[in-house]
Amino acid sequence: MINFLPLQQINASFEPELSAAVQRVVRSGWYLRGEETRCFEAEFARYIGVRHVVGVGNGLDALTLALQAAAQKQAWAPGSEVIVPAMTFVATAEAVLRAGFVPRFADVDDRALLTPETAEAVVSERTRAIVPVHLYGHPAPMTDLMAWAAERGLFVLEDAAQAHGAQIDGRNVGSWGHAAAFSFYPGKNLGALGDGGAVATADGELAERVRLLANYGAREKYVHEVAGVNSRLDELQAAALRVKLRRLDADNEARRGVARRYAEKICNPCVSLPYGGDAAQSVFHIYPLRSPHRDALMRHLAAHHVETLIHYPIALPDQPALRAVAAPFSPSAPVARQWAAEELSLPISPLLTERETDAVADAINSFQP
Ligand SMILES: *Cc1c(COP(=O)(O)O)cnc(C)c1O
Repeated sequence: MINFLPLQQINASFEPELSAAVQRVVRSGWYLRGEETRCFEAEFARYIGVRHVVGVGNGLDALTLALQAAAQKQAWAPGSEVIVPAMTFVATAEAVLRAGFVPRFADVDDRALLTPETAEAVVSERTRAIVPVHLYGHPAPMTDLMAWAAERGLFVLEDAAQAHGAQIDGRNVGSWGHAAAFSFYPGKNLGALGDGGAVATADGELAERVRLLANYGAREKYVHEVAGVNSRLDELQAAALRVKLRRLDADNEARRGVARRYAEKICNPCVSLPYGGDAAQSVFHIYPLRSPHRDALMRHLAAHHVETLIHYPIALPDQPALRAVAAPFSPSAPVARQWAAEELSLPISPLLTERETDAVADAINSFQP
């Protein structure tokens, strides 16, 4: 069986440094808000190229707290809307709801990304922000989105949960928007040994507000300035992430190598390759194939011992939890729905061998609907 993501092997490849880092924290007697977290925040900020990184409990909290901090700073009215792409993980929209605002779904383009054109179709006088998602590890068109948002005075929060280390014109995602949210869920390109997340921003006041909200609204112990939550990146996760950050660029390059080989070897008129086979910009958190015969192809690959997944089988406007609470009159998001019907994620990881990559490609090439 070729596993979708062999997490045990991936983390084993960081030994003995990974276990040494964990042991260092266990023995230190200090588990929250300490040196490891401070160092990771500084190292990740330098890596991304932003002034401030605030570690939080997970990616959903990073998105939620960044929106809450922006809303407080800019005094968004109740009922304000935030534009979210219709094809993404549910967290992008749930963060808007948890922050107290209304998600408005925009369609995506043929790379499953939000664009100025799809955002323009749903913007209203109540819109205060947009959340472009670098879905599957491919950067959203940030230059165009920032220019479009600036004309309308909108706040831009990047959802970079799938794109650690991806770049546009040599500049990392997470440094383009007014703020960015990262997740360190174990399966992400930079994954912890449990939950973790971070907000990145150049705005010192925004970073301070996120820090305050994430720490029970307290700057000083037992003095609570605002109502906050408990959302912390802990010392164990920070120590593990410091070890894994050092290899992130090499790991992303290995993922691109797998993607290039897939593009070379896969030849079947029933499937289309992501980004027209051009692997340069993506960090390939996901390798998203498309096929009108997706479900049959998935069964065929399983029979050939290739594990695949679907990201995501339901577009957000069709999610039962979101249908009732999103802004009304969203257009139908046909491209997002087509992604939901056709997407199939192939195995991809820094450890996937050429032999395994070729075996996956051969299995795809032998598929007939
Ligand atoms: C993983 C992910 C999140 C949420 O991260 P968690 O750490 O699981 O809360 C948000 N957005 C996207 C696009 C993701 O892939």
